[in-house]
Amino acid sequence: MSYQHTDPTNTQDALAAVIAEAMTILRPPPRLSVAEWADRERRLSSEASAEAGKWHTARAEYQRGIMDAISDPLHRDVVVMAGAQVGKTEIVLNVIGYHIAHDPAPILIVQPTAEMGQAFSKDRLAPMLRDTPQLRGKVKDPRSRDANNTTMHKVFPGGHVSITGSNSSVGLASRPVRCVLLDEVDRYPASAGTEGDPVQLARKRSATFWNRKILMVSTPTNKGASRIEASFEESDKRHFFVPCEDCGHEQTLRWSQVQWEKDQPETAVYVCEECGSCWNDAARNRAVRRGHWQATEEFKGVAGFHINGIYSPWTPLPDAVREFLSAKRMTETLRVWTNVYLAESWEDQGERIDDYAVAERAEDYGPRLDERILVLTAGIDVQDDRLELEIMGTGQAEESWSIDYRTLYGDPSTPQLWQDLDAILASKYETADGRTLQIRAACIDSGGHYTKAVYDFVRPREGRRIFAIKGMAGQDRPVVSRPTRNNIGKIRLFTLGVDNIKDLIFSRLRLQSEGPGYCHFPNDRPDEYFKQLASSEKIVTKYHKGFPRREFVKTRTRNEALDCRVYAIGALAILNLNLDSLAERAARQVKEDRPGAPQKQPPRHHAARRGNFVNGWR
Ligand SMILES: [Zn+2]
Repeated sequence: MSYQHTDPTNTQDALAAVIAEAMTILRPPPRLSVAEWADRERRLSSEASAEAGKWHTARAEYQRGIMDAISDPLHRDVVVMAGAQVGKTEIVLNVIGYHIAHDPAPILIVQPTAEMGQAFSKDRLAPMLRDTPQLRGKVKDPRSRDANNTTMHKVFPGGHVSITGSNSSVGLASRPVRCVLLDEVDRYPASAGTEGDPVQLARKRSATFWNRKILMVSTPTNKGASRIEASFEESDKRHFFVPCEDCGHEQTLRWSQVQWEKDQPETAVYVCEECGSCWNDAARNRAVRRGHWQATEEFKGVAGFHINGIYSPWTPLPDAVREFLSAKRMTETLRVWTNVYLAESWEDQGERIDDYAVAERAEDYGPRLDERILVLTAGIDVQDDRLELEIMGTGQAEESWSIDYRTLYGDPSTPQLWQDLDAILASKYETADGRTLQIRAACIDSGGHYTKAVYDFVRPREGRRIFAIKGMAGQDRPVVSRPTRNNIGKIRLFTLGVDNIKDLIFSRLRLQSEGPGYCHFPNDRPDEYFKQLASSEKIVTKYHKGFPRREFVKTRTRNEALDCRVYAIGALAILNLNLDSLAERAARQVKEDRPGAPQKQPPRHHAARRGNFVNGWR
């Protein structure tokens, strides 16, 4: 038996050699992360970067954790809420380069519009494909006659890159892809044509891949309307902690620690929150180089990264301060700066009401009601040991006057308290121009412990428009819904959309000058009243399908003053009056009562009527 020799002329041996060679080609390249690949292969193009040449992740160390999360098989969803000058487009480009050269896959890139997709392809992607040697030649030039390669669609061995605008339902809904890169998601429309949420459409494309990757990147926009913030909120919220050179304390970089001499942005430094040492730009950059990511919430499937412009090696602090000083002159420019530099969402002023400012505007009412008042309504809140009520006057264009606020102590399960209430609701008020007004409608909250007592009170008084109500939260609730009798008391029960009414109240409390919607208050109310009135705040309380839901939450335990105002407005809404024709009628009445008298008269003093205006606040 002769022993085997390898003779290339032998067909069997030739086959073995081919297979061996093929095996070398098919053997997977060393497993690299995106950052490792970029450090080895990526070149920055001169037209797209001030630092053309070899890529160095260490130049902006925070980029490493973000890129490596994308190539980490444990992560499917990666969310990056970032400022404009931290290099986030380069991160996206590195991910694309990695998946062309190292881990071929079909890729979908979504830009806000098709035009922005074109610009991204021509100005950023094409230079990378040209200048990075490992990518060169993998994607054919779109100018060549290959129909497979256009600006918006590029084929490479093992995959393709498709670019589309978020407003294109067609572009979002074609072939399956393994990698979905969603750039500037806060500039996407709510719906791609009539097809629905572009993010969901794009995500669906990857559903068949077990090893799919979804990267979402953006600067945030308005609080409550920001996709990237909503997604970041659902993530493990990673922040970049950097050590102080002087004390070693690790901290995130915050704008409140950037300090400068008045009118001298060039003196800007970063002040360590622990030891107070001042870092110049060089020290700040050294600190960032030694920083690391740290999750602040439990990982539930989404890796989230937040990075602001203070970390950026490309923006010196004095420049940032100059931009800030120029931006802060106007709310609109400050909003953009906050989004783009701090990578923080912008919260419109007035989500919270300044109770001091409202109290400051309170005025001296005089003995009789303002002659602009056309109708009186009341709102009553039921507590275990008392009733609280507000009587509200309303004029044209819903300008309002708080006429009275009272607390009636007693047990709501006994008749006495309700008799007291009945007497108050029957009182008469005189206006400065001589008209007599009575309460036209009242709403009593029946949602508490004394539902039956409330029903018993309102049943014989429906003719006087004294109604039981229940409040319902939720933005989709109308101010007042058609009443039902489907309740144990068989009474007309109205449902008030309390969130909508609170929106209305809060926008009106913000008005500074008399006129439509303005709210007048008497200056004998205690501070506590105004604190209760401003006792809610609208915040994001939960997320539904990735969108934030904003709700009113109590900021104080007692908020009856706000509730009473909600119910008084509910009573006005139930009346559904035409205030303009009511004003005409009032003017006619004044004329008939006092022919020849001028329509406007200074309020006359009526000491006797004062009895009804005793402030019941305790
Ligand atoms: Zn320190």
